[in-house]
Amino acid sequence: MLKELLDTNHCFKLVCGAGNEDIEEIKKLVYVYASAGCRFFDLSANEDVIAAARDALDMARVYDAYLCISVGIKNDPHVNKAVIDYNRCVNCGSCEGVCPQGAIHYAKVKKYKCIGCGKCWKVCSRAAISYVSEEKNLDEVLPAIVEKGIDCIEFHAMGNDEDEIEAKWKYINDNYEGILSICTSRGKLSDEAIVERIKKMTENRKPYTTIVQADGFPMSGGEDNYKTTLQAVATAEIIQNSKLPVYLMLSGGTNTKTTELAKMCDIRYCGVAVGSFARKIVKRYIQRPDFWTNPRILTDAVEAVKPLIDSVIL
Ligand code: SF4
Ligand code: SF4
Repeated sequence: MLKELLDTNHCFKLVCGAGNEDIEEIKKLVYVYASAGCRFFDLSANEDVIAAARDALDMARVYDAYLCISVGIKNDPHVNKAVIDYNRCVNCGSCEGVCPQGAIHYAKVKKYKCIGCGKCWKVCSRAAISYVSEEKNLDEVLPAIVEKGIDCIEFHAMGNDEDEIEAKWKYINDNYEGILSICTSRGKLSDEAIVERIKKMTENRKPYTTIVQADGFPMSGGEDNYKTTLQAVATAEIIQNSKLPVYLMLSGGTNTKTTELAKMCDIRYCGVAVGSFARKIVKRYIQRPDFWTNPRILTDAVEAVKPLIDSVIL
């Protein structure tokens, strides 16, 4: 049971990316991280992505792992996709150079790879990049996914549209009985508003059936330092101080320093979810054309990710 893993307070979750529908990348990420000891995986709400993750777990002979799918409200950064305006674009290549997902090639965006991180937008001096929200229609995707079996649904609710949040949260609660996760950050909400929202969202749920993911800076975790992870710990403290009966998970800018900083700040977390940093440290291995044929690559990739996983699970 996922609950047992959360109760250990040493749960490491690999975040593949709510918008990441790159099947081959998902398969390799899950294979490497499962082989290295990860037992909780966060995936896009896409049946093919889930099937790829299950294949990878079978290949790694890991049979005690848990899958979470992520859904979001309109304009939550996790469900945004970059779009280029070719009336403005001068094909300078700057966006391609910074994209952590390799989602831009010759000023064309491969949507299935884009995770909406915003890095391309920041470097475009021509203001040629904007975002479209591609949030999933829950009626269309959830029933089939829930029927096939998952262990958690994560709801990204970083926005101010209370009606949409309420309606989608109700739909999820009415259609899924397992553990739910709420991903929240200080980006658009005051500290008080975060607590009020979580209180409202959990008032009808049983104690400790909800994870609250304290998302520091969403999708910011490229570096392995305290500064990057500071906001995740600060956000977690706000949720902890609310004393709500929820599992508290750190995310957003998380890295190998996260647990150390959280312990120093007396944060009692159930685990740490790592996305950008986790994907970055394994990128050079999973991009290799001989990944599936050269056993040495998997060994090296596992070695590369072990310190990150161990910083949480040990
Ligand atoms: S950075 Fe802007 S101008 Fe340059 S290639 Fe990308 S979209 Fe075009
Ligand atoms: S930089 Fe981020 S937002 Fe831009 S295309 Fe790449 S993944 Fe998408």
